[in-house]
Amino acid sequence: MVYAAIITIGDEILYGQTLDTNAHFISGELDKIGIKVKLRLSVGDQSSDILQALDTARNSCDIILTTGGLGPTRDDITKRTLCAYFGVELARNEDALRDVENFFNKRGIVMNELNQMQALLPTGSKKITNSMGTAPGIWMEWNKKVYISMPGVPHELEHMLPVMVIPMIRQNFVTPVIYHKSIMTAGIGESILAEKIKDWETGLPENIKLAYLPGYGLVKLRLSAFGNDRDVLQQQVSQYTGELQKIAGEHIYGYDELSLEQKVGDLLREQKETLAVAESCTGGYLSHAITSVPGSSDYFTGGIIAYQNKLKVEELKVSESTLRQEGAVSEKTVKEMAEGIRKKFSAGWGVAISGIAGPGGGTHDKPVGTVWIGLSGKEFTEARKYNFAKNRINNIRYASVAALTFLWQRLKEKN
Ligand code: ATP
Repeated sequence: MVYAAIITIGDEILYGQTLDTNAHFISGELDKIGIKVKLRLSVGDQSSDILQALDTARNSCDIILTTGGLGPTRDDITKRTLCAYFGVELARNEDALRDVENFFNKRGIVMNELNQMQALLPTGSKKITNSMGTAPGIWMEWNKKVYISMPGVPHELEHMLPVMVIPMIRQNFVTPVIYHKSIMTAGIGESILAEKIKDWETGLPENIKLAYLPGYGLVKLRLSAFGNDRDVLQQQVSQYTGELQKIAGEHIYGYDELSLEQKVGDLLREQKETLAVAESCTGGYLSHAITSVPGSSDYFTGGIIAYQNKLKVEELKVSESTLRQEGAVSEKTVKEMAEGIRKKFSAGWGVAISGIAGPGGGTHDKPVGTVWIGLSGKEFTEARKYNFAKNRINNIRYASVAALTFLWQRLKEKN
């Protein structure tokens, strides 16, 4: 196994002004070639902090990648620190100078002294071409480790890493084959799922790792298998996903990056069914999710955002007495809404959501996060109550996913 450390350099990352997208991107690219990222560190523009991070990283890793602080705007902090670390000097790299000159010539700009300094690299290092900017990257082999410095500007890094750096890493290291498979579940919480599959998880072989990746109301299980032969790994993973299917199949709606709205759409299309939606507290969020799937016009007839009670009565035929006696967030109201929208749009299925998204509007009986979801089919109308107890946007997200889960569970019963 080859281990890597990522050090992102820049005060703005520590102050919360810049989201560290570079570390995220590098992790993803290294993962693709089977290099295990063991450590991610962020440090400010301080030489002493960078040196400490380099020490920590080299203790356990073979490749140390840094981003940021390469160009003159930060006084070349990374380059100067690397020189101090390796005990070398900065020297003009003719190859790098040619790149910088070309960059400016192409744009018809006269190069200044600061730009010329971009061509100064630690002696003994190799230049990594930066086709998107002026600060070249640095490849340095020192004490049996490889140090790679790349620019902080995300679009420069995102070009340099896959195009220049990854091929160099592949030439210098024997990397294992890594095979991922994601198993998408709905309608079950992470801890209950973990309990249910714990024996299966314990029985996984050493070379297959399991990760729980919970999202809003959904849990993705990711299996990562390491080895030398892709076909063997694929077979091995398929054996274990088959076993999982037997244990937790009722909660698995699909594999890899399939979204729940996509799965619901596929089932509706297969069953030649249609869907209409009546949303109150989600304000169109569910309809947005459904229509984010290309081709959703095959099965989605449309929706109404019946936010005020007046509209629930006029458009969805919810009875005034239901609203008066039970309130807008109630079993009876969402059932009438679901049935109302199904009939209004002549759809096979009607889904309705009514709840208290917050932060205001909660009561003792119906606290913020209380959501009723109604589902009306040709043969029955039913409703479920949830309490998400989250903040406004998360109550909205969870409610939309819960509505999709409810519908998916009923649709798969028909398959
Ligand atoms: P210079 O800009 O001095 O030429 P550089 O190319 O190494 O050097 P930085 O100055 O460190 O890059 O950063 C340039 C820009 O990239 C800044 O806007 C910074 O906020 C952004 N940036 C730096 N590090 C990261 C990171 N880890 N994730 C996302 N953006 C980053």
